[in-house]
Formats: sequence, C-alpha cells, structure tokens
Amino acid sequence: MMTIWMDGHLAGEEGVSPLAHGLHYGTGLFEGIRVYPTTEGPAIFRLEDHLQRMGRGAEALGMAVDLNLLHRGCLEAVAASGLEAAYLRPLAFYETGGLGLDVAGLKVRHLVAAMPWKNHLGEGEQRGISVRTSPFRRVSREAIPPLKLCGIYVNSILAKLEATRAGFEEALFVDVEGQVVECTGENVFFVKDGRVVAVESPHALPGITRETVMTLSGAVSRPVPLEELRDADEIFVTGTSAEVTPVRQLDDRELGVGPVTLALRSAYLDAVHGRDEAHRGWLTPAFQVWV
Ligand code: PMP
Repeated sequence: MMTIWMDGHLAGEEGVSPLAHGLHYGTGLFEGIRVYPTTEGPAIFRLEDHLQRMGRGAEALGMAVDLNLLHRGCLEAVAASGLEAAYLRPLAFYETGGLGLDVAGLKVRHLVAAMPWKNHLGEGEQRGISVRTSPFRRVSREAIPPLKLCGIYVNSILAKLEATRAGFEEALFVDVEGQVVECTGENVFFVKDGRVVAVESPHALPGITRETVMTLSGAVSRPVPLEELRDADEIFVTGTSAEVTPVRQLDDRELGVGPVTLALRSAYLDAVHGRDEAHRGWLTPAFQVWV
C-alpha cells in the first residue's frame, strides 16, 4: 500500500509527462526519511534536517523547491497512509518546459510517497552485511556535489550491481588517493581498540544518520585510508534506511558483529523510537494532523 501526495494534495499514481526533464536527465532531488512508532504515535525522524539537505540540492540545481509545501506533504502523506512505521520519499523534479540543458523556466513538481517500511539490506541489518571494495570511483565532489541529486545515483547503482554480481551485499567506494568514501547508500564507521571513528570524505553524502551516530557515540571524524579500515576491529554503516548495520565481511576479511556496533545500534533505535528523552527534539510528531 502506497500513499502518493503531489503538488499540494493526495493523488492517485498521477501521470507525469513522458518528456519530463527529470526522467531524461536525472534533474531532480530526493530524500529518504523514516517514520517510527513512538508511545505517542508515529513520528518523523529529523524531518527538518532532511528538508534542509533538499534545500541545498535545490540551490545546486537552481530549482525553486517549496520546502514548506514538502513539509506539509510529509505530514499529510503519513496521516493519509495510516502507517505507524513508514518510509517517506519526497522528490522534486523538473518536468515540462523543454528538453534543453538550460533548466531556467522549467516546471517543478513536488511529490511525497509514504510506503510501508521494508529494510533494503534485509536480514543483514542484524547479522551484518558483506561489503566489496568497488572498482567504481564515487563521483567526486568536483563533478557533482555530494547531495541527493537523482542522477548521481547511477554511480551507486553501477557499484551495487557489480558487488552483487560478485556475491556481496554492498559496495564500498574508495577515492583516487585510496581513502574510503562511503557505501552506495550508507556512510562508514569503524571501531579500533574501543574508539569509534566516522569516516570523513569530501565526496561522501553528509549523512544525517552519520551525524546522529556521531552525537550518540562521540566518534571522531577523519579521513581513513582503506588499509586502516581493513585493520579495524568492527565496521558498521549508517543510513536512514540501513540505520546502524554491522559489516561482517570486507572483501576477503571476515569480521564478527562487534559489541560496540550492537550498543550503538541499540542507542540509535532508542533515539528514533522516542525512548531517549535527551533527543526527543529529533522527532516531529506526525499524528498532529490526524483527523
Ligand atoms: N550516502 C549515500 C550515497 C546515501 O544515499 C545515503 C542515504 N541517504 C547515505 C550516505 C546516508 O545518509 P542518511 O543518513 O542521511 O540517510
């Protein structure tokens, strides 16, 4: 069951022009946001932060995105879906007005989809995932800024396909200097001698889960060469979808699912479900608009 909200109201699976600019060139931007059940009803995790990141993407694409409209769309889509746990997909894209590469004057469409939650890493979220260092390079920030611009995801998809064809669950991007960047849809952390390090890269998406887990763990953020990651005691990845997912294998190296990862995973789950009083401010109640 899927609820679609478009341009200010609830919609069916509405038509979009076959000549939509975003369809042809990937000129859109999106977010992935989670709704979690709390004792007071469904709540949206870090809604404002996700919308602000969309705002930065809109700036980069010169797109007049109405963030207030999308904010309302998120609340209305959750309410209409009746879901307590959901994945929200706001999307803004250029539609009609021409297929030229000058985007000035193109029509902008705003969409929010609310769907039942299904973990993209499957059981891996608990038992840990296998990760393969990708032969693909992450699009560098000099080519496309690391934001959730639709077209950039072809890079992630190619890397993911290569990794799954090789029998792994996820791909790890490393830059031309051999520094770790991120996975196809997650940021990377590791633990060594009890210390937690958040991998920092100018080419990686500034993840909201990464920032959340840094706050919860006091992790240091710094650039990390691949050799150092290979030598870690524990590795885990973070993302709205992945939450905190252990890495049980990196290339030919087996790692267990470690205790620090499990403790942080549990702290993260407490925060998103509103069980952590200190961080209730990260939650936007989605029941306010219930009728
Ligand atoms: N990197 C990439 C490429 C992603 O697509 C995502 C998912 N949005 C992340 C990292 C994690 O970001 P966040 O924690 O904000 O979901």
